[in-house]
Amino acid sequence: MDKGLNTLNDFRHVRKYIAQSGEEGGKRRCHGKDGESLIIKVPEGTVIRDDATGKVIADMSGNNLREVVLPGGRGGKGNMNYATATMQAPKYAQPGQEAKELWVRLELKVIADVGLVGFPNVGKSTLLSRVSNAKPKIANYHFTTLNPHLGVVDLGDGAGFVMADIPGLIEGASDGIGLGHEFLKHIERTKVLIHVVDAASTEGRNPIEDINIINAELEKYNPELLKRPQVIAANKTDVIYSEDSDPVEELRAEFEPKGIKVFAISAVSGQGVKELLYHVNDLVKSIGTEPVIFAKEFTREDLYDDVTQPFYVEKSGNNEYTVYGPRIERMLGYTNLDSERGFDFFQKFMKENGIIDELINLGIEEGDTVKLCDYFEFEYYV
Ligand code: GDP
Ligand code: MG
Repeated sequence: MDKGLNTLNDFRHVRKYIAQSGEEGGKRRCHGKDGESLIIKVPEGTVIRDDATGKVIADMSGNNLREVVLPGGRGGKGNMNYATATMQAPKYAQPGQEAKELWVRLELKVIADVGLVGFPNVGKSTLLSRVSNAKPKIANYHFTTLNPHLGVVDLGDGAGFVMADIPGLIEGASDGIGLGHEFLKHIERTKVLIHVVDAASTEGRNPIEDINIINAELEKYNPELLKRPQVIAANKTDVIYSEDSDPVEELRAEFEPKGIKVFAISAVSGQGVKELLYHVNDLVKSIGTEPVIFAKEFTREDLYDDVTQPFYVEKSGNNEYTVYGPRIERMLGYTNLDSERGFDFFQKFMKENGIIDELINLGIEEGDTVKLCDYFEFEYYV
């Protein structure tokens, strides 16, 4: 993890990284060299997932500064590892293990205490730039940034929190298309949500409806999200001109009975903003300072059980059969076939994985030769 990085943009085009495979075991009792590691730097907050299953491999947050995602190819064992009582200088040495291949998905989930949510143009960026050191783009057009902006809100005397302007909603969100995971995934780590609404309805939006739409989407994505404290920032109150209705009071009537406080603010003039921030700070403090870090779900075992690394069984000659493939290769790397226990273990593995059945299907008979990946062989007996 590199704290100096803050986007995953580098990964948009470079998609394949290759570390070295292990070298072949030496003919002269040498152990092959291990493949060299390849270090890839990602920003803090990056969640690495196995692409096939979506399982979390590592969350590069907090104290997780380094993670070995794929072990490099192990060097092959030298020929002496295959010596037996009758054959003291075997001709075969183990090939180096292939470096593994794994597709991973990188997601940057910001680590912020507070997330600003709301439809485009309600004033999220304006608010963030007003109260923090962040310099987000402020634009009067519908714009979806892919990377959230973070800002530190300093309330003095050590009080304060990190606030994130969560990327805008995808266009058409209100038409039922949904807000998109780009938007929602960032919210998972925040502790408090501020709904920013345009209380003046300068673009004709209905603030109450907006909040309900967003909450419904949050619930759909992850019901846990709705358990986090929320606050409403009724923004643009400097341009409320309506005389017969008071949108802020309407918001209060709707949401305060549900425990969601409403603050009338103007992100442009700064009016009401302090009160909002102190309230949010209290909420954040009441939740604690531990960042939300995702637990590991993908282990080395998952890597080794990868179904895309099978084995093949074929008849390779008269009375000769060959079993090969990455899984066999791997098993051979782990098992000492010269020991009785090792060989028993391997036999069990072949039975359980249908390799023996396959051999029988191919017509194997007692006394035939079974070659394993070209460098180990045994005679077949039932
Ligand atoms: P975002 O899309 O939610 O990030 O909205 P922006 O912060 O980019 O603001 C959208 C537009 O609303 C900009 O033109 C802002 O100047 C304007 N705006 C934001 N806050 C206020 C406010 O409190 N009062 C007024 N009058 N305009 C605001
Ligand atoms: Mg914005």
